[in-house]
Amino acid sequence: MNLDQIIALQRAHAPVQARTSLKYRLQKLDQLRRALQGPWQAELAKALHEDFGKSPVEVGLTEIFPTLDNLKIIRKNLKRWSAPQKVKTPLFLFGSSSYTQPESKGSTLVIAPWNYPIFLSLHPLCSSYAAGNTVLIKPSEHTPKTSAALAALVAEIFKPEEASVVTGGIDVSTALLKKRFDHIFFTGSTAVGKIVMEAASKHLCSITLELGGKSPTIVDETANAFEAGQRVAWAKFTNAGQICIAPDHIYVHARKLEDFKRGVAKVISQQYGEDPTLSKDYVRIVNDQHFKRLTNMLREATEESGTPFIGGTANAEQRKISPAVFINPSKEGALMKEEIFGPLLPVFSYTDVKEPLLEINSREHPLVVYIYSKSKRNIKAIQQGTRAGATAVNMSLLQIANNYLPFGGTGHSGIGKTNGHAGFLEFTNTRSAFYQWGFPVNKILAPPYTSGKEKLVQRLIKNLF
Ligand code: NAD
Repeated sequence: MNLDQIIALQRAHAPVQARTSLKYRLQKLDQLRRALQGPWQAELAKALHEDFGKSPVEVGLTEIFPTLDNLKIIRKNLKRWSAPQKVKTPLFLFGSSSYTQPESKGSTLVIAPWNYPIFLSLHPLCSSYAAGNTVLIKPSEHTPKTSAALAALVAEIFKPEEASVVTGGIDVSTALLKKRFDHIFFTGSTAVGKIVMEAASKHLCSITLELGGKSPTIVDETANAFEAGQRVAWAKFTNAGQICIAPDHIYVHARKLEDFKRGVAKVISQQYGEDPTLSKDYVRIVNDQHFKRLTNMLREATEESGTPFIGGTANAEQRKISPAVFINPSKEGALMKEEIFGPLLPVFSYTDVKEPLLEINSREHPLVVYIYSKSKRNIKAIQQGTRAGATAVNMSLLQIANNYLPFGGTGHSGIGKTNGHAGFLEFTNTRSAFYQWGFPVNKILAPPYTSGKEKLVQRLIKNLF
């Protein structure tokens, strides 16, 4: 089936899909659960290992686990989420009642990136399918083995008119974006997010944009900075920093800098040994283009600011760069121009929290502002003094693992939310319903506007509110 045929098939099927019972949808999603808990897990892990050397344990933890957790929340709550909800009726609308009822959007398109290719394809698939939509997934061309495995998995469980995967690169994405969908769920870079938004505007199609950005971390003067260093290093170098919510750069209070550095160094050697580029648990950079981008960034940063405090060895054969931590590099330099999306970490010391706040607010809103502090007052001040998709306090990354917590950005880091109920809502239209059962108010207040009606309107305006 070519692209046009599969799109037409799903579009024609969308009204039928919308009327499928919750039981049917949950049965299909349960098949997916069993597949992920069974033999498909190993298939997908093998593909991801071939694509960019991700360890099967990490695939289990960061791709399969959160997908299954979201599925469980969907299974437990779909009936309640899908039910009509009665809303209040004001006194002046006597004789009526009102409800909201979520309804599916229709045919949906999911465009996924390469860094968590399973999770970021199947997570929106589950939310959209549960909401009664058809789903067409376009995974990334940079993980070809995983994309092929995903296509086979989805084809094994779903009918092509219900859910399907199309593989290919920018050409396929561009062709898809010219077509009409009822919702596009895009995860990827901010630059491509703008292209998606422009394409969607042609059809007034609703969108979710899960984008990236430079998520800062502040480690204040009250924090346990040794612990913070360990947590930040774990988060930053997981997936070799190729995570949308990776801590991009760190501000550490000057008094805490040495403790923080000790924490970072400890975790790097503990997790990846003497030479991280040889560690089987340390992920490769996804492709030559990104390897070149990051080694250029590393070279420029070293020229501007001197050698990193730790790491920075590039192994082209393995396509790995050992975790590189720079202390007080240039703020106008290579590391601070764009989202790093790799294992390079600039750390800046500060003495007054106003400095980092000023810098954070001079940039586009990030996905997350991370705060390490023991002071509730400081946490509140940083939270209120910045704007971001999320705040995480005294931990990095783990906020995404709570599927009850809506996930998404704001401004340049994204539009819309996903996870659990938020993901379901993103793929539905909340339809309002108004029922007039008894004598309606317009009988009293319709023309001709007599002086009695005029007085009544004035009395209502004065006394009702
Ligand atoms: P990307 O934007 O390059 O690609 C994402 C998808 O868009 C791919 O499927 C790709 O084929 C398609 N695409 C690429 N260029 C296109 C174009 N010109 N027109 C139409 N489609 C195009 O992103 P990536 O490199 O795969 O992923 C890294 C980016 O994704 C980072 O910026 C990261 O922060 C972001 N990200 C965000 C989240 C989130 O949940 N917010 C999650 C993961 C990654």
